[in-house]
Amino acid sequence: MSPPRWRQPLIIALTSALTTLALALILLPAFTLAGWTGSLPAPLVPVLNSVVAAGGLSQTVAATLPFVDDSHEPFCAGVTAGQRHQLQRGLTLMGRTVAGQRLRQLLTHHDICAGTAAIPYNGGYARAERGLFGGWSSSKIILDEVLVAEVDADVLASMLIHEATHIERAIAGTSCGISHDCEALPNGVHLEEEIAAHAAEAEWWIEVHGPNGKRSLSLAALAQNRLAASFGEGPDAFAALVRELRDDPREGKGIT
Ligand SMILES: [Zn+2]
Repeated sequence: MSPPRWRQPLIIALTSALTTLALALILLPAFTLAGWTGSLPAPLVPVLNSVVAAGGLSQTVAATLPFVDDSHEPFCAGVTAGQRHQLQRGLTLMGRTVAGQRLRQLLTHHDICAGTAAIPYNGGYARAERGLFGGWSSSKIILDEVLVAEVDADVLASMLIHEATHIERAIAGTSCGISHDCEALPNGVHLEEEIAAHAAEAEWWIEVHGPNGKRSLSLAALAQNRLAASFGEGPDAFAALVRELRDDPREGKGIT
């Protein structure tokens, strides 16, 4: 079942300039090295009161999504109990959509761990790598430790969707981040690979939060709203946004 395409404009009571700022701060990049595909970050800067006032956003809506601890995901070495809890919330929420369930099952099936690290620029990355005896169990998804501590679980889920999409494409042999058979930006980011991952992320966000996105004061959530809105504007607009978001020279910095 494919998620519904979203054609209605989002109602975001912030100026486009503020939204762009939020995006620049939050929706980060991905990059690709042989076998690596990176993804988004997000400094969790709380929205200032002045920003809220300027945008006329008068209500705070903390959309609380149900949390079911169905933990059975592998976690990478070094993950603390608190980080495990946060990651698990995101992993659980992934399953709110059919596509999310598929991606989560893929991670479980291949014993691919989720972990954290201090990542200077990107919000996370995925590494698709075969194990010594075949399979993909040496693969992993790593999210920035600050993001894991600070952002809402639905944002973490959307990031996990993004990274899991890279893993899925690598396993399927369709990742141009590995084949390099697509346009590479000057910073090494493979555009089509990132468009695919961001699209999966946007579709999840739309399916979970609806055509108007999530009402929130969180910059991370607003950035996801913007991404989703762009997705609804069609492939050309979405590709342009991804290109804009992912052309920073700091892409991939500090990821080993
Ligand atoms: Zn990516």
